[in-house]
Amino acid sequence: MTTTRKIIIIGSGPAGYTAAIYAARANLVPLMLTGAQHGGQLMLTTLVENYPGFVEGVQGPELMETMQKQAAHFGTEMIKDDVTAVDFSRRPFVVTAGEQTFESHTVVIATGASSKLLGLPAESKLMGRGISTCATCDGFFFKNQNIMVVGGGDSALEEALFLSHLGRRVDVVHRRDTLRASKIMQERAFKNPKIQFIWNTVVQDILDGERGKVTAVRLENVKTGAREERPVDGLFVAIGHQPNTEIFRGQVELLPNGYIKVRPGSTETSVPGVFAAGDAQDFTYRQAVTAAGTGCMAALEAERYLEATEAR
Ligand code: NAP
Repeated sequence: MTTTRKIIIIGSGPAGYTAAIYAARANLVPLMLTGAQHGGQLMLTTLVENYPGFVEGVQGPELMETMQKQAAHFGTEMIKDDVTAVDFSRRPFVVTAGEQTFESHTVVIATGASSKLLGLPAESKLMGRGISTCATCDGFFFKNQNIMVVGGGDSALEEALFLSHLGRRVDVVHRRDTLRASKIMQERAFKNPKIQFIWNTVVQDILDGERGKVTAVRLENVKTGAREERPVDGLFVAIGHQPNTEIFRGQVELLPNGYIKVRPGSTETSVPGVFAAGDAQDFTYRQAVTAAGTGCMAALEAERYLEATEAR
């Protein structure tokens, strides 16, 4: 066990790095547990055009490298381990990562969210071998091929539109006959000659696990029960995200959807001294810039908490 920290930040997406920058500049000497893979979801994107300050956009990984350097520049200590357990019932709080255990007066949870999967056994076998959750990362591998996207929200249509520039055709499979996506995205997708919709349909199986690559999918129409096997080269699953909050279950209050409950207008969790920022607590906006904003809030709130409890 090392000396008690003032602040530990768990996670290294825009929320985590922003919290670190603010905490470091407030002289709280933050420790950041970045996770084995730093940078969060923006590491899986290419061009980010809506993060303010970049006239022509910025590559997601480049943006995260810059945030990391900025946080390090002001004195953030970073450890590249996944947090495996926390104990918020004790004070100071206890955080375990890898072989190490840390104590801290405050904790900022910024563990983000991950893509949801369909739950088919073939998915894990063929992930990265024809199945992907990131068109901007993997679309290039399916140039002039037949691509399928699963989902009916903005993510699915964004993926389909991106993939339409690469693939021969893009089929969007949706389990209902109306989309959840915004009107503007729907209009763009409907206008795109390469995109077709397969309505009221679910993916039952993905072939071919034996050959180690995607060759076809088995579809079922949920209205008629009709089944078909459709040849496809790449399958993009875009059915939303789930928060990375499992290790906090029983430690802070979670909402029924698994996101961390925070006091409205703040990043305060059910445990005083523990704050949550970014996609781990936000199922509404989920933007890099809103994550960064709540990261800033979390650091400021942690600083005030330390002042109030005289742990500053
Ligand atoms: P979402 O809005 O929750 O949509 C998920 C879609 O996947 C829904 O159509 C849902 O079907 C379907 N789905 C969920 N579980 C499924 C399953 N097990 N099998 C088959 N289909 C399933 O998620 P999202 O598209 O990731 O968007 C999340 C948020 O980010 C939204 O607020 C969105 O506006 C925002 N976003 C915005 C942009 C943009 O503006 N460019 C891009 C991406 C995301 P049902 O409709 O039947 O529930």
